[in-house]
Amino acid sequence: MPVELLGKSIEELREFAGSLGEKPFRAAQIHHALYAERRFDFSSMTNIPLALRERFAQAARISPPRVTRRFPSVDGSIRYLLSIGQASGDKDAKPAQIEAVFMPREGRQTICISTQAGCAVDCHFCLTAQLGLIRNLTAGEIVGQVLVALEENREHLAAQTNVVLMGQGEPLLNYDATIAAVRILLDPKGVGLAPRHVTLSTSGIVPGIEKLGKEKVRPSLAISLNASNDEQRNALMPINRKYPLDVLIDACRRYPLRPREYFTFEYVLLGGVNDLPEDARRVVRLIAHIRAKVNLIPWNPGNLPYRAPTPESIEEFQRILVDKGVPTFVRYSRGQDVFAACGQLALMETPSPFVSLQ
Ligand code: SF4
Repeated sequence: MPVELLGKSIEELREFAGSLGEKPFRAAQIHHALYAERRFDFSSMTNIPLALRERFAQAARISPPRVTRRFPSVDGSIRYLLSIGQASGDKDAKPAQIEAVFMPREGRQTICISTQAGCAVDCHFCLTAQLGLIRNLTAGEIVGQVLVALEENREHLAAQTNVVLMGQGEPLLNYDATIAAVRILLDPKGVGLAPRHVTLSTSGIVPGIEKLGKEKVRPSLAISLNASNDEQRNALMPINRKYPLDVLIDACRRYPLRPREYFTFEYVLLGGVNDLPEDARRVVRLIAHIRAKVNLIPWNPGNLPYRAPTPESIEEFQRILVDKGVPTFVRYSRGQDVFAACGQLALMETPSPFVSLQ
Protein backbone atom coordinates (compact mmCIF):
# COMPACT_ATOMS: atom_id res chain seq x y z
CA MET A 1 0.00 0.00 0.00
CA PRO A 2 1.54 3.37 -0.94
CA VAL A 3 2.43 5.63 2.01
CA GLU A 4 0.48 8.91 2.35
CA LEU A 5 3.00 11.76 2.48
CA LEU A 6 0.75 14.77 3.05
CA GLY A 7 0.92 15.69 6.73
CA LYS A 8 4.25 14.00 7.34
CA SER A 9 6.88 15.93 9.27
CA ILE A 10 10.44 16.27 8.00
CA GLU A 11 11.48 13.47 10.38
CA GLU A 12 8.77 11.16 9.02
CA LEU A 13 9.76 12.03 5.45
CA ARG A 14 13.36 11.14 6.32
CA GLU A 15 12.16 7.74 7.49
CA PHE A 16 10.25 7.33 4.25
CA ALA A 17 13.29 8.29 2.13
CA GLY A 18 15.48 6.02 4.26
CA SER A 19 13.09 3.09 3.71
CA LEU A 20 13.82 3.44 -0.01
CA GLY A 21 17.57 3.70 0.63
CA GLU A 22 17.61 7.44 -0.16
CA LYS A 23 19.60 10.14 1.62
CA PRO A 24 17.92 12.53 4.14
CA PHE A 25 18.26 15.52 1.79
CA ARG A 26 15.66 13.88 -0.47
CA ALA A 27 13.19 14.21 2.42
CA ALA A 28 13.95 17.93 2.60
CA GLN A 29 13.27 18.20 -1.14
CA ILE A 30 9.88 16.48 -0.81
CA HIS A 31 9.07 18.61 2.26
CA HIS A 32 9.83 21.81 0.34
CA ALA A 33 7.89 20.72 -2.76
CA LEU A 34 4.87 19.65 -0.71
CA TYR A 35 4.49 22.46 1.76
CA ALA A 36 6.36 25.48 0.39
CA GLU A 37 5.53 24.93 -3.30
CA ARG A 38 2.24 23.04 -2.89
CA ARG A 39 3.09 20.34 -5.40
CA PHE A 40 0.70 17.42 -5.03
CA ASP A 41 2.06 15.40 -7.91
CA PHE A 42 5.51 13.80 -7.92
CA SER A 43 5.88 14.55 -11.63
CA SER A 44 5.82 18.29 -10.84
CA MET A 45 8.58 18.04 -8.18
CA THR A 46 11.24 19.22 -10.56
CA ASN A 47 13.74 19.66 -7.73
CA ILE A 48 14.02 15.83 -7.70
CA PRO A 49 15.55 13.73 -10.54
CA LEU A 50 12.97 12.13 -12.81
CA ALA A 51 13.87 8.50 -12.06
CA LEU A 52 13.57 9.14 -8.34
CA ARG A 53 10.25 10.92 -8.74
CA GLU A 54 8.97 7.79 -10.46
CA ARG A 55 10.18 5.61 -7.58
CA PHE A 56 8.54 7.89 -5.05
CA ALA A 57 5.31 7.81 -7.05
CA GLN A 58 5.25 4.02 -6.82
CA ALA A 59 5.92 3.95 -3.09
CA ALA A 60 3.82 6.89 -1.94
CA ARG A 61 0.86 9.08 -2.70
CA ILE A 62 -0.24 12.64 -1.93
CA SER A 63 -3.97 13.02 -1.32
CA PRO A 64 -5.06 16.61 -0.68
CA PRO A 65 -8.75 17.20 0.14
CA ARG A 66 -10.76 17.29 -3.08
CA VAL A 67 -12.89 20.36 -3.78
CA THR A 68 -16.43 19.10 -4.34
CA ARG A 69 -18.12 22.48 -4.59
CA ARG A 70 -17.22 26.13 -4.41
CA PHE A 71 -19.58 28.74 -3.00
CA PRO A 72 -18.39 32.26 -3.83
CA SER A 73 -19.86 35.06 -1.71
CA VAL A 74 -20.57 38.59 -2.81
CA ASP A 75 -18.01 39.74 -0.21
CA GLY A 76 -15.22 37.91 -2.07
CA SER A 77 -14.88 34.94 0.28
CA ILE A 78 -15.26 31.39 -1.02
CA ARG A 79 -16.56 28.44 0.95
CA TYR A 80 -15.28 25.07 -0.13
CA LEU A 81 -17.01 21.80 0.41
CA LEU A 82 -14.18 19.27 0.50
CA SER A 83 -14.16 15.50 0.29
CA ILE A 84 -11.60 13.57 2.26
CA GLY A 85 -10.67 9.98 2.74
CA GLN A 86 -11.48 8.39 -0.63
CA ALA A 87 -7.90 7.76 -1.66
CA SER A 88 -6.87 6.41 1.69
CA GLY A 89 -6.60 2.73 2.41
CA ASP A 90 -6.63 3.53 6.13
CA LYS A 91 -9.79 1.97 7.55
CA ASP A 92 -10.09 4.81 10.08
CA ALA A 93 -9.98 7.46 7.38
CA LYS A 94 -13.48 6.86 6.06
CA PRO A 95 -14.77 9.30 3.43
CA ALA A 96 -16.26 12.48 4.85
CA GLN A 97 -17.15 16.01 3.85
CA ILE A 98 -15.64 19.03 5.52
CA GLU A 99 -15.55 22.78 4.93
CA ALA A 100 -12.91 25.44 4.55
CA VAL A 101 -13.37 29.13 3.82
CA PHE A 102 -11.01 31.48 1.98
CA MET A 103 -11.49 35.13 2.94
CA PRO A 104 -9.45 37.73 1.01
CA ARG A 105 -8.82 41.15 2.52
CA GLU A 106 -6.56 44.03 1.62
CA GLY A 107 -3.00 42.76 2.10
CA ARG A 108 -3.89 39.33 3.45
CA GLN A 109 -6.09 36.26 3.21
CA THR A 110 -7.60 34.32 6.07
CA ILE A 111 -8.33 30.63 5.69
CA CYS A 112 -10.70 28.92 8.11
CA ILE A 113 -10.17 25.17 8.34
CA SER A 114 -11.74 22.13 10.04
CA THR A 115 -9.99 19.72 12.39
CA GLN A 116 -12.70 17.08 12.65
CA ALA A 117 -15.53 15.94 10.39
CA GLY A 118 -18.53 16.87 12.51
CA CYS A 119 -18.08 17.51 16.21
CA ALA A 120 -19.07 15.90 19.50
CA VAL A 121 -19.06 19.06 21.63
CA ASP A 122 -22.71 19.98 21.04
CA CYS A 123 -22.68 23.77 21.29
CA HIS A 124 -26.33 24.66 20.84
CA PHE A 125 -25.74 27.58 18.47
CA CYS A 126 -23.64 25.49 16.07
CA LEU A 127 -24.85 23.51 13.08
CA THR A 128 -21.81 21.24 13.06
CA ALA A 129 -23.00 19.90 16.40
CA GLN A 130 -25.99 18.40 14.59
CA LEU A 131 -23.65 16.20 12.58
CA GLY A 132 -22.18 14.57 15.68
CA LEU A 133 -18.56 13.47 15.44
CA ILE A 134 -17.94 11.63 12.17
CA ARG A 135 -14.21 11.28 12.65
CA ASN A 136 -10.96 13.04 13.46
CA LEU A 137 -9.01 14.46 10.53
CA THR A 138 -5.42 13.44 9.93
CA ALA A 139 -2.61 16.01 9.99
CA GLY A 140 -2.51 15.80 6.17
CA GLU A 141 -6.23 16.50 5.88
CA ILE A 142 -5.87 19.53 8.16
CA VAL A 143 -2.81 21.09 6.53
CA GLY A 144 -4.17 20.03 3.12
CA GLN A 145 -7.12 22.42 3.47
CA VAL A 146 -4.73 25.38 3.72
CA LEU A 147 -2.66 24.19 0.77
CA VAL A 148 -5.72 23.59 -1.41
CA ALA A 149 -7.27 26.98 -0.57
CA LEU A 150 -3.97 28.74 -1.38
CA GLU A 151 -3.59 26.79 -4.59
CA GLU A 152 -7.16 27.54 -5.67
CA ASN A 153 -6.45 31.24 -5.29
CA ARG A 154 -2.82 31.26 -6.36
CA GLU A 155 -3.36 33.94 -9.04
CA HIS A 156 -4.30 36.62 -6.53
CA LEU A 157 -2.69 35.79 -3.21
CA ALA A 158 -1.71 38.59 -0.83
CA ALA A 159 1.62 38.44 0.98
CA GLN A 160 0.19 37.49 4.36
CA THR A 161 -1.80 34.36 5.15
CA ASN A 162 -3.77 33.90 8.35
CA VAL A 163 -5.17 30.54 9.32
CA VAL A 164 -7.94 30.05 11.86
CA LEU A 165 -8.81 26.59 13.18
CA MET A 166 -12.47 27.45 13.61
CA GLY A 167 -14.25 25.26 11.08
CA GLN A 168 -15.83 21.93 11.91
CA GLY A 169 -14.61 20.24 15.06
CA GLU A 170 -12.93 20.94 18.38
CA PRO A 171 -9.18 21.10 17.62
CA LEU A 172 -8.11 20.16 21.16
CA LEU A 173 -10.11 16.93 20.95
CA ASN A 174 -7.99 15.93 17.95
CA TYR A 175 -4.83 17.17 19.61
CA ASP A 176 -2.00 15.19 18.03
CA ALA A 177 -3.09 15.59 14.40
CA THR A 178 -3.90 19.27 14.93
CA ILE A 179 -0.51 20.01 16.48
CA ALA A 180 1.30 18.03 13.78
CA ALA A 181 -0.50 20.14 11.16
CA VAL A 182 0.22 23.39 13.04
CA ARG A 183 3.93 22.53 13.19
CA ILE A 184 3.99 22.22 9.39
CA LEU A 185 2.07 25.49 9.02
CA LEU A 186 4.51 27.30 11.33
CA ASP A 187 7.68 25.66 10.02
CA PRO A 188 9.70 28.31 8.14
CA LYS A 189 10.74 25.51 5.76
CA GLY A 190 7.15 24.27 5.53
CA VAL A 191 4.20 26.58 4.89
CA GLY A 192 6.08 29.26 6.83
CA LEU A 193 3.30 31.13 8.62
CA ALA A 194 3.94 33.30 11.70
CA PRO A 195 2.57 31.95 15.04
CA ARG A 196 0.55 35.14 15.54
CA HIS A 197 -1.15 34.50 12.19
CA VAL A 198 -2.41 31.02 13.12
CA THR A 199 -5.22 30.89 15.68
CA LEU A 200 -6.65 27.80 17.29
CA SER A 201 -10.13 28.28 18.68
CA THR A 202 -11.40 26.02 21.46
CA SER A 203 -14.70 25.61 23.23
CA GLY A 204 -12.65 25.38 26.44
CA ILE A 205 -11.08 21.92 26.69
CA VAL A 206 -8.95 22.64 29.75
CA PRO A 207 -6.51 19.66 29.57
CA GLY A 208 -5.86 20.57 25.92
CA ILE A 209 -5.20 24.22 26.84
CA GLU A 210 -2.72 23.09 29.50
CA LYS A 211 -0.99 20.75 27.06
CA LEU A 212 -0.82 23.42 24.36
CA GLY A 213 0.85 25.81 26.81
CA LYS A 214 3.77 23.38 27.06
CA GLU A 215 4.36 23.16 23.29
CA LYS A 216 7.49 24.82 21.94
CA VAL A 217 5.76 25.62 18.66
CA ARG A 218 2.18 26.72 19.10
CA PRO A 219 -0.46 28.93 17.52
CA SER A 220 -2.35 31.80 19.13
CA LEU A 221 -5.26 30.69 21.26
CA ALA A 222 -8.87 31.82 21.11
CA ILE A 223 -11.50 30.77 23.61
CA SER A 224 -15.11 30.54 22.50
CA LEU A 225 -16.69 32.13 25.59
CA ASN A 226 -20.22 33.12 24.53
CA ALA A 227 -21.64 33.52 28.05
CA SER A 228 -21.06 35.59 31.13
CA ASN A 229 -21.94 33.02 33.80
CA ASP A 230 -22.11 29.25 34.25
CA GLU A 231 -25.86 28.99 34.04
CA GLN A 232 -25.90 30.70 30.66
CA ARG A 233 -22.86 28.81 29.39
CA ASN A 234 -24.23 25.43 30.55
CA ALA A 235 -27.34 26.14 28.48
CA LEU A 236 -25.41 27.15 25.36
CA MET A 237 -22.32 24.95 25.63
CA PRO A 238 -22.80 21.74 27.64
CA ILE A 239 -18.99 21.31 27.70
CA ASN A 240 -19.14 23.98 30.43
CA ARG A 241 -20.49 21.37 32.87
CA LYS A 242 -17.21 19.52 32.50
CA TYR A 243 -14.95 22.61 32.47
CA PRO A 244 -16.90 25.40 34.21
CA LEU A 245 -15.93 29.02 33.87
CA ASP A 246 -13.76 29.24 37.01
CA VAL A 247 -11.72 26.22 35.85
CA LEU A 248 -11.47 27.55 32.29
CA ILE A 249 -10.53 31.07 33.30
CA ASP A 250 -7.99 29.72 35.80
CA ALA A 251 -6.37 27.71 32.96
CA CYS A 252 -6.21 30.93 30.90
CA ARG A 253 -4.58 32.81 33.79
CA ARG A 254 -1.93 30.09 34.11
CA TYR A 255 -1.30 29.87 30.35
CA PRO A 256 2.27 30.97 29.53
CA LEU A 257 1.56 33.77 27.08
CA ARG A 258 4.62 34.86 25.10
CA PRO A 259 5.71 38.52 25.11
CA ARG A 260 3.13 40.56 23.21
CA GLU A 261 0.85 37.50 22.89
CA TYR A 262 -2.74 37.75 24.10
CA PHE A 263 -5.83 35.58 24.27
CA THR A 264 -8.82 36.18 22.09
CA PHE A 265 -12.19 35.58 23.72
CA GLU A 266 -14.91 35.07 21.14
CA TYR A 267 -18.39 35.99 22.15
CA VAL A 268 -21.32 35.26 19.84
CA LEU A 269 -23.97 37.84 20.71
CA LEU A 270 -27.39 36.18 20.77
CA GLY A 271 -30.22 38.69 20.94
CA GLY A 272 -31.94 38.61 24.35
CA VAL A 273 -29.81 35.70 25.56
CA ASN A 274 -26.30 36.94 26.40
CA ASP A 275 -26.18 40.51 25.06
CA LEU A 276 -27.36 42.56 28.03
CA PRO A 277 -25.26 45.26 29.73
CA GLU A 278 -24.94 43.07 32.86
CA ASP A 279 -23.49 40.32 30.65
CA ALA A 280 -20.85 42.75 29.42
CA ARG A 281 -20.02 43.78 32.99
CA ARG A 282 -19.68 40.12 34.05
CA VAL A 283 -17.38 39.44 31.09
CA VAL A 284 -15.17 42.33 32.23
CA ARG A 285 -14.92 40.79 35.71
CA LEU A 286 -14.35 37.28 34.35
CA ILE A 287 -11.37 38.14 32.20
CA ALA A 288 -9.84 40.77 34.49
CA HIS A 289 -6.06 40.40 34.71
CA ILE A 290 -5.86 38.26 31.57
CA ARG A 291 -4.02 39.79 28.61
CA ALA A 292 -6.89 39.47 26.18
CA LYS A 293 -9.00 41.00 23.50
CA VAL A 294 -12.64 40.22 22.82
CA ASN A 295 -14.27 39.61 19.46
CA LEU A 296 -18.02 40.16 19.49
CA ILE A 297 -19.75 38.17 16.75
CA PRO A 298 -23.37 39.25 16.20
CA TRP A 299 -25.52 36.18 15.56
CA ASN A 300 -26.74 35.64 11.98
CA PRO A 301 -30.34 34.54 12.01
CA GLY A 302 -30.57 31.10 10.42
CA ASN A 303 -32.00 27.69 11.09
CA LEU A 304 -31.45 27.82 14.84
CA PRO A 305 -33.85 29.42 17.33
CA TYR A 306 -31.82 32.54 18.18
CA ARG A 307 -32.20 36.09 17.05
CA ALA A 308 -29.69 38.73 16.04
CA PRO A 309 -28.73 41.36 18.65
CA THR A 310 -29.88 44.91 17.96
CA PRO A 311 -27.26 47.42 16.74
CA GLU A 312 -27.79 49.32 20.04
CA SER A 313 -27.09 46.26 22.19
CA ILE A 314 -23.93 45.47 20.19
CA GLU A 315 -22.70 49.03 20.61
CA GLU A 316 -23.50 49.14 24.32
CA PHE A 317 -21.83 45.78 24.97
CA GLN A 318 -18.69 46.91 23.18
CA ARG A 319 -18.67 50.28 24.94
CA ILE A 320 -18.82 48.68 28.41
CA LEU A 321 -15.81 46.47 27.66
CA VAL A 322 -13.80 49.20 25.98
CA ASP A 323 -14.49 51.62 28.86
CA LYS A 324 -12.96 49.05 31.21
CA GLY A 325 -9.83 48.84 29.04
CA VAL A 326 -10.65 45.58 27.21
CA PRO A 327 -9.80 45.84 23.48
CA THR A 328 -13.08 44.76 21.89
CA PHE A 329 -13.93 44.36 18.23
CA VAL A 330 -17.16 43.58 16.43
CA ARG A 331 -16.66 40.92 13.77
CA TYR A 332 -19.33 40.09 11.27
CA SER A 333 -18.95 36.60 9.83
CA ARG A 334 -17.92 36.58 6.20
CA GLY A 335 -19.76 34.81 3.44
CA GLN A 336 -23.16 35.18 5.04
CA ASP A 337 -24.88 34.67 1.72
CA VAL A 338 -23.20 31.28 1.23
CA PHE A 339 -23.93 29.68 4.59
CA ALA A 340 -21.92 31.37 7.26
CA ALA A 341 -21.94 28.90 10.13
CA CYS A 342 -19.59 25.96 10.13
CA GLY A 343 -21.41 22.73 9.36
CA GLN A 344 -24.01 24.30 7.15
CA LEU A 345 -22.60 22.99 3.89
CA ALA A 346 -22.11 19.48 5.16
CA LEU A 347 -25.62 19.48 6.60
CA MET A 348 -27.16 20.33 3.28
CA GLU A 349 -28.79 17.35 1.72
CA THR A 350 -30.63 19.12 -1.03
CA PRO A 351 -29.01 20.99 -3.92
CA SER A 352 -27.93 24.48 -2.95
CA PRO A 353 -29.89 27.50 -4.13
CA PHE A 354 -26.55 29.27 -4.48
CA VAL A 355 -24.39 29.22 -7.54
CA SER A 356 -21.70 26.59 -7.42
CA LEU A 357 -18.67 27.08 -9.63
CA GLN A 358 -18.33 23.37 -10.17
S1 SF4 B 1 -18.85 25.54 17.94
FE1 SF4 B 1 -17.01 24.31 17.51
S2 SF4 B 1 -16.79 23.04 19.35
FE2 SF4 B 1 -18.89 23.78 19.40
S3 SF4 B 1 -20.10 22.17 18.36
FE3 SF4 B 1 -19.51 23.69 16.79
S4 SF4 B 1 -17.64 22.88 15.90
FE4 SF4 B 1 -17.94 21.83 17.85
